[in-house]
Amino acid sequence: MSTGTDTIEARNELRTAPTDQFGIIFNGPNAPLEYKKLPMPQMQPDEILVKVLFTGVCHSDYHIWKGDWKKPAKRPLIGGHEGVGVVKAIGNKVSLLSGFQVGGHVAFEVLSK
Ligand SMILES: [Zn+2]
Repeated sequence: MSTGTDTIEARNELRTAPTDQFGIIFNGPNAPLEYKKLPMPQMQPDEILVKVLFTGVCHSDYHIWKGDWKKPAKRPLIGGHEGVGVVKAIGNKVSLLSGFQVGGHVAFEVLSK
């Protein structure tokens, strides 16, 4: 696992981004929750980088953890897919019309690809 910072190019500016992040990991039904350092994925040109300030735990998180979600769930799973944060970088392929600004606040819901 790496530490330190990487550089990413966003909107013709070089910015530093952390190479690690932290998450709450669901390893299996009713398994103890694990707070863990995780590698940061490489930011893609059509993405924004958000420093997450707060996330909630919704019913889908809870049921996936308990093992009674209606669909099979990927594991390990990082919980907390709805939250708020601050935009730290904007990829070059994100439309200027999106309204995102570095330093702006966003609310999000993450859906797996
Ligand atoms: Zn949810």
